[in-house]
Amino acid sequence: MALRTLVLFLLAAAPVHAEGPPGLQIHWVDVEGGGATLIVTPAGDGVLIDCGYPNPRDAERIYKACVGAGLKQIDHLVVTHWHVDHYGSLGRLAKMIPIVNFYNHGIPDELPDDPKNFPTLIAEYKLASQGKSRALKPGDDIPLRQAPDSLPVRIHCVCSNRQVLPEWGAGMSNPLAKEHKAKPEDTTDDSRSLGLVLQFGHFRFLDLGDLTWNIEYKLVTPSDKIGPIDVFQTSYHGADFGNNPVLLSTIKPKVSVINNGPRKGCDPVVVARLRHTPGLEAIFQVHRNVKSEAGENADAEFIANADEKCQGEPVILRVAPDSKSYTVTAGSNGKQHEYATKPPR
Ligand SMILES: [Zn+2]
Repeated sequence: MALRTLVLFLLAAAPVHAEGPPGLQIHWVDVEGGGATLIVTPAGDGVLIDCGYPNPRDAERIYKACVGAGLKQIDHLVVTHWHVDHYGSLGRLAKMIPIVNFYNHGIPDELPDDPKNFPTLIAEYKLASQGKSRALKPGDDIPLRQAPDSLPVRIHCVCSNRQVLPEWGAGMSNPLAKEHKAKPEDTTDDSRSLGLVLQFGHFRFLDLGDLTWNIEYKLVTPSDKIGPIDVFQTSYHGADFGNNPVLLSTIKPKVSVINNGPRKGCDPVVVARLRHTPGLEAIFQVHRNVKSEAGENADAEFIANADEKCQGEPVILRVAPDSKSYTVTAGSNGKQHEYATKPPR
């Protein structure tokens, strides 16, 4: 058989999934200090956690990320809490791309934290969701499609509206609990943030929105309700209102991603705390913190946007189809950094 004929024969005989099953992607869209974390599952579901500020910039950047990832719709939109940097662009975004299912921690009648924006933005939310949204409770899952040849994928709610998953394992107390130094009670909507664990095979990612210090503590004490985490999106854009060291030292992330803006979040004290967290190998930032001193930001190749005037570059994470490794890239043309997924506990 001539070589060309042999190649054609082998190609024709190859199974339909010659390329193997797809992996999973996470895109941190640059919404300049807001939240917009886009997950694309192996089956092609688009899950957007938060959607930035109410300006054309953020809606356009999110739309671009969706189209770039091959999405024709956002299957699931989660709003972690009702602050303007987490659902502001919804009205515009819903006009650009269909959004199918809506999740939140519950819709209050009013928001004392933000009486100026809340009435308008919640009206836009109710209009876009046609009054149909679901308040997630700890223990709830977001129903995801499963790809036939792929490992299972799951998004699980660990906290909502100041409630956390129930304790487990009688007497299983976290020895790190004694290191907790409580902060004054946070009565804002940040403390009500939804928290989600995404699990794909053995890979585990934690996004707690803008959850604050004392509720983070409840998540891992007396018993640890979270377990080991591969990638942690720092709470509250990397500000010191969250990122309790008891949480960090319990979940021991290998990689953290800070969804900060050039002048918002990524507090030097949090960067230092992350660097001292056992097992942490890399900190990625959506932006350089232009207010920080030298050495208080990650190295340049781990930062998607170096300057205040920027092109809105994302941080992109790709989990391998077998979930045993993943790569993270700061900026669409940045250097790929590869990490091994933690073994199952
Ligand atoms: Zn925020």
